[in-house]
Amino acid sequence: MIADNIKSVTERIARCCEKAGRPRGSVQLVTVTKEASVGQMEEVFHAGARDFGENRVQDALTKHSAIGDKVKWHLIGHLQTNKVKDAVKIFSLIHSVDSLKLAQAIDKEAAKLGKRQSILIQVNVSGEESKFGIAPEETIDFLKVASAYPNISVDGLMMIAPEVDDPEAVRPYFRRLRELRDKIDEGRRAIRTLSMGMTNDFEVAIEEGSDIVRVGRAIFNDQ
Ligand SMILES: *Cc1c(COP(=O)(O)O)cnc(C)c1O
Repeated sequence: MIADNIKSVTERIARCCEKAGRPRGSVQLVTVTKEASVGQMEEVFHAGARDFGENRVQDALTKHSAIGDKVKWHLIGHLQTNKVKDAVKIFSLIHSVDSLKLAQAIDKEAAKLGKRQSILIQVNVSGEESKFGIAPEETIDFLKVASAYPNISVDGLMMIAPEVDDPEAVRPYFRRLRELRDKIDEGRRAIRTLSMGMTNDFEVAIEEGSDIVRVGRAIFNDQ
């Protein structure tokens, strides 16, 4: 059941934090609802979930009109410039910014709403062609430009690990994103948040320093 699954994921996160010597509350769970119905979303809300992740703006708008702002909405999927206006209306955090053109469009729409939009930069750490995201070595230059936009706040970095059977195999990718973040923090552009880890690999991601895990299947599928 959904409530049991949320409880079990939350406990796994807590145990993992303990094992990694991190405070229990230092990792945020975003419940990925892209395949969930509004009814199921109400169910996870009652079980304590307060952050929902969607990968399509249109689906999120429909669900947002039913559920509203009692939860925080996270955009985790690729964002097209023509959807930015709607995205800025509802999302607290856009995890998937992968071009300066997009960052600029978000800045412009946020200005119109009098909002400062929090974003993460999606980095394609594994370099897979199928994945969105900027190359790791472009990140610092990207940040220099993006941090000059007054209506966005670049809070950190996001990545999606390759799909593998053994989560240990993707540990080096998580580590690489953390090292990139740390390197940026040594400079003057402090960014803190690392959004990494999904159903298959969130425990390894937490051990490597993740601050936000995005979990769908472990919550909505019967395991
Ligand atoms: C679907 C999705 C998730 C959740 O994946 P699960 O394997 O269902 O936990 C996390 N992040 C992104 C970007 C996704 O598209």
